[in-house]
Amino acid sequence: MVNSFAMNNNFPNTKRLYYENSHLLEFSAQILDCQPNKDNWAVILDQTAFYPTGGGQPFDTGFLGKAQVLDCIDNDQYILHIVDQAISGKVEGNINLIRRRDHLQQHTGQHILSQAFIQIANAETRGFHLGVDSSTIDIETSELTPEILLKTEDLANNIIFENRSVKVHLTNEKDKFPLRKDTERDNCIRIIEIEGFDFSPCGGTHAHYTGEVGLIVIRSIERIKKLWRVEFLCGNRALIDYRSAHQTAVETAKLFSAARDKSPELVIKLQQELKELQKSNRELLNQALSKEALNLYNSTTPNPNNLRVVTFISSRNIDELKTLAQFLTENLSVIALLATTLESPKIVFACSSDVKIDCGKLLSQFCKDFGGRGGGRPQMAQGGLPQNTEFETALKTLALTL
Ligand SMILES: [Zn+2]
Repeated sequence: MVNSFAMNNNFPNTKRLYYENSHLLEFSAQILDCQPNKDNWAVILDQTAFYPTGGGQPFDTGFLGKAQVLDCIDNDQYILHIVDQAISGKVEGNINLIRRRDHLQQHTGQHILSQAFIQIANAETRGFHLGVDSSTIDIETSELTPEILLKTEDLANNIIFENRSVKVHLTNEKDKFPLRKDTERDNCIRIIEIEGFDFSPCGGTHAHYTGEVGLIVIRSIERIKKLWRVEFLCGNRALIDYRSAHQTAVETAKLFSAARDKSPELVIKLQQELKELQKSNRELLNQALSKEALNLYNSTTPNPNNLRVVTFISSRNIDELKTLAQFLTENLSVIALLATTLESPKIVFACSSDVKIDCGKLLSQFCKDFGGRGGGRPQMAQGGLPQNTEFETALKTLALTL
């Protein structure tokens, strides 16, 4: 829709005011055209300070007169402003400062970080994405150690703390500049120079001095095929992330009544204690189940076939029932028909090695009769019945047939 509209019209190139001054937030412009575009309107101006999506950086938002700018699209020659109402004549443009500053911090930070990775690890940047919450660069290198990351982060922040100037060069002679990456363009090239550090062809909005970036932090790395994806935050995003991380650390430490940085060692200690408790809990449970199995065995008299058929319905969980079945069937001539009293009943059938019945088949049929499912080996099987199934009488009846 937008493309066909734009291609059918022949407008002069939109003058891009953000090329000259990325701190310009208010400007006047003449509206050259305003056309319906889906539920909104697409506007072309003679000049604009609105940055359109491109080069990994999202568009600016703000107002053209009373119309809200919802999107900004680069059609090479001219820029389309998608607005929520029709406008005409002369208009005052007003750009959202918070969003512009955020993008400017992330984008300038990216130039600094990309050059820092080259100087520390000879790792070139192959891709950049400025996201809503964080940004990423994809860099080409085989190894990315914690030491490399720290050194790169330190170098990048030193460049910020030195508050170096960021200059824009418009040139037709790109060979005169030591460019970090080449460009396919041969003329009217816009080169961003971070004083004495980095030269990069770019059409985005950048800081005038590196100090505006505030801070760069690397948050995570991830291997993507042959590249490393480095997630980073600059400026206010780094501050927000610090506050969040600090609050998390303080709240965790409070649980231990400890200082903020003590949490990791206290959590490790707690994990070890938990492991030991789980081990002793397992041992105590096994002892209890062994005793319970012995009581069940002794209180069950052999039937005419000389088999002890233990029918036992309890509140124990399925794993405990299986252990109980194992203890019971360590004795000869035992059949265990065990069940839980849970809302969704679980069943375990097991028999001793000398008993010639197939518990798998027996349990499968039993469950099927109640609309449940189950199965297993001839000596041990398990299954489940639908919620609130009244199965107790059937289990006792089955016991009498064995
Ligand atoms: Zn840039």
